[in-house]
Amino acid sequence: TDKKKMSLTGRVILGMLLGILTGFIIRSLFADTAFIHEYIVNGLFDVGGKIFIASLKMLVVPLVFVSLVCGTSSLKDISTLGRLGGKTVLFYLVTTALAITLALTMGTIFQPGAGADLSAATTFASKEAPSLGDVIVGMFPTNPISSMAQGNTLQIIVFAILFGIAISAAGKAGERIAALFVDLNAVIMKLVALLMNIAPYGVFFLMAKLFTGLGLDAIYNLLGYFLVLAATLLLHGFVTYSVMLKAFSGLSPIVFLKKMEDAVMFAFSTASSNATIPVTMETATKRLGVNNKIASFTVPLGATINMDGTAIMQGVATVFIAQAFNIDLTMSDYLAVIMTATLASIGTAGVPGVGLIMLAMVLNQVGLPVEGIALIMGVDRLLDMIRTAVNITGDSVVTCIVAKSENEMNIDVFNNPKAGEKDE
Ligand code: ASP
Repeated sequence: TDKKKMSLTGRVILGMLLGILTGFIIRSLFADTAFIHEYIVNGLFDVGGKIFIASLKMLVVPLVFVSLVCGTSSLKDISTLGRLGGKTVLFYLVTTALAITLALTMGTIFQPGAGADLSAATTFASKEAPSLGDVIVGMFPTNPISSMAQGNTLQIIVFAILFGIAISAAGKAGERIAALFVDLNAVIMKLVALLMNIAPYGVFFLMAKLFTGLGLDAIYNLLGYFLVLAATLLLHGFVTYSVMLKAFSGLSPIVFLKKMEDAVMFAFSTASSNATIPVTMETATKRLGVNNKIASFTVPLGATINMDGTAIMQGVATVFIAQAFNIDLTMSDYLAVIMTATLASIGTAGVPGVGLIMLAMVLNQVGLPVEGIALIMGVDRLLDMIRTAVNITGDSVVTCIVAKSENEMNIDVFNNPKAGEKDE
């Protein structure tokens, strides 16, 4: 293929496939070749992958802050904000509750944990799930600079909204600052576009490193769990979201899913909704035609509080562990799982492996042995990649639904297959 003509998406897919292939080749042919592991896998691949992730993460805080200040300061009146916020949060909660209910149902029907091998179980420390009060208080920054330094998305969102409101209320001074933020936003989006050009290499490095070390035997032992979870994730990703999108916005799910390709691939290879924020945002605004006013709010918020894929993992894993330890779950246990998983997902950021930490809270809450986590840890990475892709697809579905209902969506952009595609 002619590399110059290939779209960025095509190159990222190529990078991913070549990376997976390279990983497999090293695993099977060079398992004992020390210098390859030392210099290539733990050298080049590791360094390249880490630089790629760092470059994405680097964009998140400035992008979230600047684009949200832009979005909020351009709102005509504050009541829009309340309606927008209410609608978004409601949809996020509903999709999460649906996801976890689906997961509990699938786990109960397919019984992945019946007769599972418990020999792997070791101890695993768990934290208490945060209370609703703690979660809400934790959203309010005492020091916005420290919120940004720590990358606390919810606190940054709260500060950006307040700052944006103040800008729109501050007359002439506000107009000057708003203009500055509009320019800053354009510059940062440009930076996102520039850095996306290294993605094919970054994805290659990440995949090659990961698949060199990926223990596929572990998956084999836990095949039931793996398959039920993966199937539920796909079901939710393709069916639930398509139905929701069609029902609440009338938009075409096929067009939507097709346009999600870049964001889904970034989510898959980074296993972090947070690191994917810049790409999700680009996809929402440039390819799906969502006004930045909406996307700048819903996307970072979703990356933090809306994790449907992770919720599905909580559901399937809880049922799996209960079955493996021969413990019966009651209806109120199921409800507790739904509540805890939803709450825990609000308070935790979308970073790799956080689903396991949330699972510890959920297991604690329903009195299941937290050691159960050790059973599934070995296969978590690959599942983490899939559920992160579902997480950001969920954020984008809700973003489209809210944007459409607010009349902040450019349907021509949405329906144009070429819109926002990059092939420089
Ligand atoms: N890695 C996931 C995310 O970033 C969270 C998880 O399920 O571990 O969305």
